[in-house]
Amino acid sequence: MHEWSVAEGILRSVIEWAKENNLDSVRKVKVAIPSFTFLELDILKEAYDTLKRGTVLEKSSLEVVYKDPLFKCRNCGNTFNLNQVLGELNEVREEFGEEYPLHLVPGLAPAFIKCPKCGSNDVEVSPQDITIEEVEVNGTAGSSG
Ligand SMILES: [Zn+2]
Repeated sequence: MHEWSVAEGILRSVIEWAKENNLDSVRKVKVAIPSFTFLELDILKEAYDTLKRGTVLEKSSLEVVYKDPLFKCRNCGNTFNLNQVLGELNEVREEFGEEYPLHLVPGLAPAFIKCPKCGSNDVEVSPQDITIEEVEVNGTAGSSG
């Protein structure tokens, strides 16, 4: 399942990083996930909690934040964010209901989005990958509060 390989990838990167930095315990891992991927958060967390056993991440928790994709118009070079085309997306959503296509297939986005500046449909979406934003380690500074 996709979620499991994502969790595995996150764990592998952080374990590698912890090893390089001689850390033996990680408290929290924060990852950013593109807001319209079709990842199931529950499954991702379940996979994370299962796969972390026996690693330096055993006691860590996974925090997920959503990041909005960026769009770039190939016609005029204009870059814009999700908010600027939210109206158009909402129209698509209204037309298709909750299971609107972007939720299922983020790659379809350009088909439904027009550049707010020149109206071109030749729009490219920023890479939809998951990034590790922050790793909290036991006993280090920066963990006040
Ligand atoms: Zn444009």
